[in-house]
Amino acid sequence: MSLGRYPLIVVGAGHAGCEAACIAAAMGVETALVTMSLDAIAQMSCNPAIGGLAKGHLVREIDVLGGIMAKMADRAGIQFKMLNRARGPAVWSPRAQEDKALYREIVRAHLERTPGVTLVQAQVVGFLVRNGRVHGVALQDCGTIESDAVVVTPGTFMNGLMHIGDRSLAGGRVGEAASRGLSECLAELGFRVLRLKTGTPPRIHRDTIDFSRMLEQPGDEPPRPFSHFTRALEVDQVLCHLTHTTEETHALIRANLDRSPLYTGKIRGIGPRYCPSIEDKVVRFSEKRAHQIFIEPEGRTTHEYYINGLSTSLPEEIQCAILHTIPGLEEVEMIRPGYAVEYDFLPPDQLGPTLETRAIAGLYLAGQINGTSGYEEAAAQGLHAGINAALAIQGREAMRLGREEAYVGVLIDDLVTKGTEEPYRMFTSSAEYRLLLRQDNAIDRLLPRARELGTLSSEELRIAERWVRDRDSAVTRLRGARAGLTPDSDHAARGSTSGQESLAQLLCNGTLALEDVLGRRELADLSRETVESASIEVRYEGYIRRQLREVERTARYEHLHLSDSIWEEPMLELSREGREKLGRIRPTTVAQAARIPGVSPADAAVLVIYAERERRRADLSSVTS
Ligand SMILES: Cc1cc2nc3c(=O)[nH]c(=O)nc-3n(C[C@H](O)[C@H](O)[C@H](O)COP(=O)(O)OP(=O)(O)OC[C@H]3O[C@@H](n4cnc5c(N)ncnc54)[C@H](O)[C@@H]3O)c2cc1C
Repeated sequence: MSLGRYPLIVVGAGHAGCEAACIAAAMGVETALVTMSLDAIAQMSCNPAIGGLAKGHLVREIDVLGGIMAKMADRAGIQFKMLNRARGPAVWSPRAQEDKALYREIVRAHLERTPGVTLVQAQVVGFLVRNGRVHGVALQDCGTIESDAVVVTPGTFMNGLMHIGDRSLAGGRVGEAASRGLSECLAELGFRVLRLKTGTPPRIHRDTIDFSRMLEQPGDEPPRPFSHFTRALEVDQVLCHLTHTTEETHALIRANLDRSPLYTGKIRGIGPRYCPSIEDKVVRFSEKRAHQIFIEPEGRTTHEYYINGLSTSLPEEIQCAILHTIPGLEEVEMIRPGYAVEYDFLPPDQLGPTLETRAIAGLYLAGQINGTSGYEEAAAQGLHAGINAALAIQGREAMRLGREEAYVGVLIDDLVTKGTEEPYRMFTSSAEYRLLLRQDNAIDRLLPRARELGTLSSEELRIAERWVRDRDSAVTRLRGARAGLTPDSDHAARGSTSGQESLAQLLCNGTLALEDVLGRRELADLSRETVESASIEVRYEGYIRRQLREVERTARYEHLHLSDSIWEEPMLELSREGREKLGRIRPTTVAQAARIPGVSPADAAVLVIYAERERRRADLSSVTS
């Protein structure tokens, strides 16, 4: 029985699916968002927070491109911090503690109010495919929905299997059924399907925590919004707390490793290296006498608390005993045990740069299914896939973000060019141009894209364009205003001053810090964020110029295109490993090809010759036609 037809279907209303559906609808493409439970839309499976190192950059970029995560994070946020302030501005990263229940509620309300999005509660068990192109989905209750394209975002649910000690339970998340049939259907369509795992910590009761034995972790004052379009944050911020494991904790864990599925080999998937369980940490970092543990509220009104840093799959009774060895948790009551979940994923080197699968036209994958871990990485992929599915349906040119343009560009390029065998997490170190990709200048970098796509409202466009004007004005004023410092002024201690330099010059030579210019009367009419961004541009302009020159140098290879047909040629000049990898990943530019592990500089030089030959042929055919 057909349940109708939509131009686009999105499978799974998690962080990736919600972004894909909303952005496609914002671009005018009617979308059915099909998910197993309408009550679990945008559920945060694990930590009650959005953002953090590099993740916060992704959220700011999603915001400028018209996505929803930043706005929702502001509305459900209960504490806001800018991490890494003690280091350079390239790694400053916004992070917000979230009220999980409120976050779910406002995302669902947003979806219900978004014109062009239709929510459908059902389980998708397969895809309708004809002549190598998807044309809809099959539902568990035998219904079908037809479409021109499908974005698949099933998270940790494909054949999800949860583990606590020696108990295993099918499910994508505690209390939610696993999704059956999709992996088998994708394998039959010729895709490689592998296995990953991740874990989550126990949750505890607030009234049984002794906070006096912990360090308070307050939010920033004033709190900064995540979204460029949130005017101001009126939020009564909650406290988090910091404690740590002890030698007793570690001894208890070591004595029970044989009862942890992560260690008994019972869990087949590979776990997240950068989000290790406490068992991992105790074994891998055996020299450490303590590991940091953050105690975070799951929401403003609930008494449930999250224990950040204690992800585990040990038996429940051992988890309770472990908790009682931690300062401040000696009497704590556990509400829910931690657990591990293993699930199917598809190595992302089976996708093109738009996240469309190479094997089946019109089929896009985004989120945890591509081997990433994290709400923000999932949301960024969902946005990218949703935009490109909509562009394809509208017959418009695809969007590809460069590595020098956005962390979203770095994420997608890493996934489709290098693939991943373990859960991929974004880091600032993943971006070779991180000084260009700061969290403060996302508008600069991506506003032109948003204008092209038409994904911002007129009010949002006005706010963004005002921000660019103000920031440019701040730079001009910094360059023009005399600092007026006398040689004996206390700033002079930090650097040389004749009293004639501009504010910009003294920022550049370190005599003035960012804080010193914030209060200057020449800039008093501008916001703190604007002055800060302008000061960073001015202070780091030498380094920024150097990175821009590097971008120009490699741009030549980004514009040397490789058509899909050349991978059918023998290309015997290539190394054996290069030929195997290139034939599997089928890069579309020489620059992308050169980034594939195993492709040598000699291979890249051969590809330059092929690309130049292709370009000459294309020029010739355009002249003769
Ligand atoms: C136990 C656990 C621990 C985790 N720990 C961490 C961590 O420590 N750090 C971290 O960054 N991330 C962690 N994650 C991962 C994080 O939750 C995901 O990265 C993120 O939610 C992925 O977003 P997504 O949109 O890809 O999928 P999800 O948010 O999982 O959403 C998938 C959605 O698709 C729906 N769905 C699935 N299959 C079907 C189907 N066949 N038909 C219809 N609907 C379907 C599901 O119901 C769900 O609503 C953890 C996840 C779990 C479950």
